[in-house]
Amino acid sequence: MAQKFYNFIDGEWMKALNGETTENRNPAHWDEIVGIFPKSGKEDVKKAVEAAVIHREEWANLPVPERGQILGRSGDIMVEKKEEIAKLMTREMGKILKETRGDTQEGIDTAYYAFGESRRLYGVTSPSELPNKAIFTITKPIGTAGIISPWNFPMAIPCWKIYPALLMGNTIVFKPATDTPATATKFVEILTEAGVPKGVVNLVHGPGSRVGEAILEHPDIGVISFTGSSAVGRRIAEVAGKNLKRVSLELGGKNPQIVMPDADIDLAVEGVLWGAFGTTGQRCTATSRLILHKDIFDKFMDILIGRTKGLKIGDGLIESNDVGPVINESQLKKILNYVDIGKQEGAKLVLGGNRLTGGNYDEGFFMEPTIFTEVKAGMRIEQEEIFGPVLSVIKISSFEEAITVANDVEYGLSSSIYTNNVKYAMRAIDKLEAGITYINAPTIGAECHMPFGGFKNTGNGHREGGKWPYEVFGEIKTVYIDYSGKLQKAQIDTDITK
Ligand code: NAP
Ligand code: MG
Repeated sequence: MAQKFYNFIDGEWMKALNGETTENRNPAHWDEIVGIFPKSGKEDVKKAVEAAVIHREEWANLPVPERGQILGRSGDIMVEKKEEIAKLMTREMGKILKETRGDTQEGIDTAYYAFGESRRLYGVTSPSELPNKAIFTITKPIGTAGIISPWNFPMAIPCWKIYPALLMGNTIVFKPATDTPATATKFVEILTEAGVPKGVVNLVHGPGSRVGEAILEHPDIGVISFTGSSAVGRRIAEVAGKNLKRVSLELGGKNPQIVMPDADIDLAVEGVLWGAFGTTGQRCTATSRLILHKDIFDKFMDILIGRTKGLKIGDGLIESNDVGPVINESQLKKILNYVDIGKQEGAKLVLGGNRLTGGNYDEGFFMEPTIFTEVKAGMRIEQEEIFGPVLSVIKISSFEEAITVANDVEYGLSSSIYTNNVKYAMRAIDKLEAGITYINAPTIGAECHMPFGGFKNTGNGHREGGKWPYEVFGEIKTVYIDYSGKLQKAQIDTDITK
C-alpha cells in the first residue's frame, strides 16, 4: 500500500474535504507510487486561510529574532535530513541525487540567511526638515501570503519564498506543484518540528486550477509569491491586479550561452553540457541556446557532440547517472513536439531527438539529450521555452550579432558569455538583457544570497534570494514623532525660498 499524505491546516493533518486524492509517481519508474495526496478544492483553501488569519497576530507578535531562531532551527533539522530529503525528491521528480542534494542545500542556506536576517531587519532613520521632530520606518507583516511553487526545485523555491514571508511575520497558505507534494510535505513537517506554531503554515495540495485559483481569489490573502510558467503568471497578475494584491512573479527563460573565439573551449563545452542537460534541461535558467562564433563552430560542435554522447541517462538514484528522466508523460510529449517543430522549421537535428526506450527506460520518461544546429534567430525552438534537454545552436559572426540574438527573445532571466577578452566580457555585462549574467560559467548556478529574477517577461520586477524578497513580504510604515509641542507644517514652515 502506498503511503497516504495529507493537507496541513491549523496544525492538523487532514484529508481534502471532498475526499479526492491523486497519486504522486516516480518519473523514472512510473509504476512506483511515491504517495497518495489530497486533491483539494476551494473549501480546503477557505479553511486554510481561516486558520492563517486567526494565527496572524500571535505570529506577528513574536519578536523577529525569536521567529528567526525557529527558522534557523528548521535549517538544522534540514541538515540532519538532507540525504533523506534528496532521495525523496529524486523519487518524486527525477533529477539526479547530486542535484537534489544541492536543491536541499539551497533550502538550508536560505533558512540560515533568514536566521541572520532576523537581527538585521533595519529600517531607516532620517533627520527631519523641522526642529524637534524624529522620523524613522518600521516594517509590518502584510498578513497572509499565498505561496504557489513549481516542481523543478521542490525544496529551494518554497524556501526562497516561505522563509522571508515567515520572518516578516506573515502566515502562509502553501500550494506546491502537483508533481512534487512529498518534498513540500517534508518541508512543512520540518518547520513544525522546529517550532513554527500551528496555523502559521498551512499546506493545501491539489491542482492549480482549483487550489491555485482559490488562493488568487481569496480576499484575505494579501500577497502572492509565484514561480512557474509565464502563462500562469499572467493569469495570476490579472486576478491580483483586479483585487489590488501584491504579487511577485518568477517566470520562464530562454537563456543563451555565447562563446567567442578566444574562449577556453573545453571550459565552455563543460559549461554548456551542465547548463543545457543538467536537471534534464528543466530549469528556468537552463541553457537552451548556444550562440557560437563561426570561427570555432566546427571544432566546438565536434567536442560538444562527443561529450553529450557520453552522458549517462537513467534513474537519478543511481549515483553514476548524469541525467534523469523528464517530469511526466505530457512534458515528454511537449518536448518531442518541439523536436518536430525544429525539424519543420529547417533546423538540423545533429543529436538525439527521441524518447529513450528498451530495458529500464520503458519504465519511465527518458529522453535523449538533443542538439539542433542551423537554428536561425526567430525560429520557435529559438524563441520558446521548451523545458527539456534540447539545445538550439545559433552560429554568429561577431560579438554584436551575438548580443542582438541573445536579447531578441521575450524572456530575460539568465545569460552567459565565455571569453578571455575583458572588453567582450564588460560589454556583455552592460548589454545582455537578463537578470543574471555569468562570465566563463554556465547559465545555471545561482547563490542564495544574491538577487534572482529576470528582465522582460521573466517576471514583474521582483527578485528572490538575499534581502530582496523581504521587501515583498512587508508593509513599510513611516513614523513621525513631533516633540516640539506645537503644530509644525512640513513644506510650509520650512520654505527656504521665502
Ligand atoms: P506551471 O505549470 O506554471 O505551475 C506552477 C504552479 O502554478 C504549480 O503549483 C501549478 O499547479 C500552479 N498553477 C497552475 N495553474 C494555476 C492557476 N490557474 N492558478 C494558480 N496556480 C496555478 O509551471 P511548472 O510546469 O510547474 O514549472 C515550470 C515553469 O516554471 C517554467 O516555465 C519555468 O521556467 C518556470 N520556473 C521559473 C523559475 C524562476 O525563478 N524564474 C524557477 C523555476 C521554474 P499544478 O502543479 O497543480 O499544475
Ligand atoms: Mg512525481
